Amino acid sequence: MNRRTGGVRTQARGKVRLDLRDEGADVTDWEGLRQNMVDHQIAARGISDTGVLDVMREVPRHLFVGRGMEASAYGDHALPIGEEQTISQPYMVAIMTAALHLTGEEKVLEIGTGSGYQTAILARLADRVFSVERIETLATRARRTLDTLGVVNVSIVVGDGTIGWKEFEPYDRILVTAGSPAVPTSLIEQLADPGVLVIPVGSLAKQQLRIVEKRDGAIKEYDEGGCAFVPLVGKDGWELRND
Ligand code: SAH
Repeated sequence: MNRRTGGVRTQARGKVRLDLRDEGADVTDWEGLRQNMVDHQIAARGISDTGVLDVMREVPRHLFVGRGMEASAYGDHALPIGEEQTISQPYMVAIMTAALHLTGEEKVLEIGTGSGYQTAILARLADRVFSVERIETLATRARRTLDTLGVVNVSIVVGDGTIGWKEFEPYDRILVTAGSPAVPTSLIEQLADPGVLVIPVGSLAKQQLRIVEKRDGAIKEYDEGGCAFVPLVGKDGWELRND
């Protein structure tokens, strides 16, 4: 893992390893749970982007949750992943990903790697993903999971994503997976033209999913519906609370 200030940044190496949690006496029908999740929680609620649906039928979400929670991984809810953070609800992952309208060519910046599940989805639908996570233990775990799955087009850094990741700008798409009081100006600056930024904006308790479009130098913003994310903590986000 590389800190923003430190040394050489390691890229994924593309090793494919077996996941030990899938070995032995495990007879859970993960594939069936995934199809069920997509059919009943996502397609049934009106998401029709076949790229998003197909990828969510394939990425093994149960590998991104903590040990012992695998059986709940395909439920219709967020789940704790430690450090007071959560893996987002599958439906929310689908809505946000669909809002990005990915074609496979894009360079994407993700803020809030968390479990790495959303990162894995983006990696399948875009050309390259740069992901910033504030909490090192989560970033390390996400990196490991992505390596296990042989995901090679993702770079993760530990740092404050409210200031973006200047080194690789501009980004065709930016996705923030934590709730912010406002749209951080650095992210608008680092967005390509044309480009799309998706970010939950509102109070600590609830937000609206805001879509920010940059085209011909102009910015257009609209809200796509209510959501509730853990806080985006940092310079242009919420202050860290010590209670
Ligand atoms: N997409 C992730 C969501 C994780 S929750 C998933 O589904 O697993 C949001 C994440 O944003 C948390 O891991 C949190 O630590 C991270 N985060 C909060 N503020 C951040 C910031 N300023 N920069 C980078 N990551 C941040």
